[in-house]
This record gives sequence, C-alpha cells and structure tokens, in this order.
Amino acid sequence: MQEFQSQLERILSLSSIRLQEPMKAHTTFRIGGPADYYVSPRDEKELMGVCSLCRHAEVPYSLLGNGSNLLVSDEGYRGVMITLDAWDEVRIQETTVTAGAGILLSKLAKKIAEASLTGFEFAAGIPGSLGGALVMNAGAYGSEMREIVTGAKVMTREGEIRELSGAELELGYRTSCIPAKDYIVLEGTFELQHGEAEAIYRRMEELSMQRKSKQPLEYPSAGSTFKRPSGYFAGKLIEDAGLRGFCIGGAQVSEKHCGFVINRGGASAADVMNLCKEVQHRVEEQFGVVLEMEVKRLGSM
Ligand code: FAD
Repeated sequence: MQEFQSQLERILSLSSIRLQEPMKAHTTFRIGGPADYYVSPRDEKELMGVCSLCRHAEVPYSLLGNGSNLLVSDEGYRGVMITLDAWDEVRIQETTVTAGAGILLSKLAKKIAEASLTGFEFAAGIPGSLGGALVMNAGAYGSEMREIVTGAKVMTREGEIRELSGAELELGYRTSCIPAKDYIVLEGTFELQHGEAEAIYRRMEELSMQRKSKQPLEYPSAGSTFKRPSGYFAGKLIEDAGLRGFCIGGAQVSEKHCGFVINRGGASAADVMNLCKEVQHRVEEQFGVVLEMEVKRLGSM
C-alpha cells in the first residue's frame, strides 16, 4: 500500500489526497467509516492518472458527488474515493447550459436563474451534484433530468473522453447507463428556455417551501430511501404497514414522511440496512409489493 500511496503522490498534489477520511463527513446520512484514500483531482490528466493507477494496482475506486444518495458501510471503503469538486465551471450560451459534474444543483440553479433561463427550477432543492443527478436521473415535482439533458462529457474505463448525447445516457426512472458502463461524468449540457427571472426565483421558492413542509430536512437522510413501485407510493405502503416512526438503533422511518429513513442520532449503516430489510419484508408480506432501494450502497454491508 505504501508503494500505491507514493505513486498517487506523483499524480496528485499532497493537498488533494486524504488518508482514512471518514465518509460520514461526506454523506448527507452522516454515516460511513473511513475511505482508505479520498482524492480530489483537479483536471482530466490527474483524474486519468488516478484511475489508471487504480486499475494497474487492482485497487477499487468509486466516484463521490455530494453523497446525498449514498449509504457507506460502517467499515468504510477499501479503495479510493474520487471527488470532482474542482469541476464546477458553468458556461451559458443563449439557452444552452454546460456545467461541470462537481457543481451542486442548488448553485447551478442559481446561475441559471440569474441568466433568466427556465426549466431547471425543479432541481434547485435536490441536494446533489450534477454528476450524481445524471447518474440517478434525479427528478422532482413532475420533472427530471432526462427532459432537459442534451449531452454529457464522460471518461470511459479506458481513460478515453467521450461526448454522449442525452439518449446515449439511457436515463430512466432513477437510473442511467453510467454505472454499468463505468463512465465518469465530467460535464453535462442542458437545453432550457428563456424566462423571467422573478418568476423563476418565485417557483424555486415555492418548491423549497413544499420540501420543507413535507420532508424531514431537520434530520440527516439520503432522501427517498426506496424507489416508487409501479402503481404505488413507497411512503404510503410503509405507512399502511404501520411502520411510521419504526426504529432500529439510530435509524428511523421518518414520522413526517414515511418514504424517508432518517438518522435520528448515531445511526450506523447496519441500523439503516436492518431497518430497510424489515420495511421491505413487512411491505411485501402485507401488500405483495417489492420495494427496491433507491439509495446506493458502498462497502460491505
Ligand atoms: P452521490 O450520492 O454522491 O452518488 C450517487 C451515485 O452517483 C453513486 O453511485 C456515485 O458513485 C455516482 N456518481 C456521483 N458522481 C458521479 C460522477 N461524476 N460520475 C460517475 N458517477 C458518479 N433525488 C431526487 O431524484 N429527487 C429529489 O427530490 C431528491 N430529494 C432529496 C432530498 C434529500 C433531503 C436528500 C438527502 C436526497 C434527495 N434526493 C433526491 C437524492 C439525491 O439528492 C439525488 O439522487 C442526487 O442526484 C444524488 O447526487 P449526489 O451528487 O449526492 O450523488
């Protein structure tokens, strides 16, 4: 491992490498043990160098956006967590917006509103990065990334940079082809419409109020824990199964919104997983509906 670290230090500046970084500091669940390495490459060359080193040394690597849809195991991650924080540039030309994968959706939405472009308001309150939002085809209030994305720049496993069309990302309900193809998203491009800045800000404010009133934002979570099963709402099924407020350790089915599992203090990843399994079991037993997890898991659990 010492040799691996020395090689990493040849690719990245020392300030871009952290060892044994607690992942609970980087996930909205506030859960997760240490990642062996946590690195922030500043450009494509550094990113390519890190990925190629990991492949040759057979050390796993994984991308981290804002950690808002991620449950990391209590033992942490035996590999390299890569964050693209430095990829936060935004370019706006007429109604076309191109932005780096590391930018937060809230920040991007503000820049888009400043440019009086409409169509991105739905994403302003989703606490993810653009990269994570493309991977998940994030959506809210009847809109999703698929409707506005026209393309993305990705790095392939072989280190090749490719420009993909929106269709090539194969965006579906909370899915894309990105994880299966092992792409790293570097940039996304959207097509929006001219609008009126005041109306855009008003819409974002309305949606933000709706979120605050319906979602348990006062507790750490990863948002909706389960995907919406066809023909049902996960939260309603969980509530009807009598699981509102159900706890295991520090993990709890939110009393405010049963679709959210929250960390009400000191929850471990094991608590969350045990709770999710019990919820899945009881909902299937009572209603015959299988709840699939929307939250991605990393590390052994
Ligand atoms: P992360 O959680 O960091 O990562 C998610 C996955 O994407 C991981 O597999 C990661 O490896 C991968 N990934 C991240 N960046 C890249 C990249 N550049 N290249 C390749 N892979 C990458 N989601 C919704 O869709 N709608 C909502 O309304 C919504 N509301 C939420 C409310 C709350 C309070 C919370 C906590 C979460 C909510 N979410 C919602 C879930 C979450 O915010 C979204 O799924 C978001 O898109 C995840 O982005 P992220 O940057 O945090 O990704």
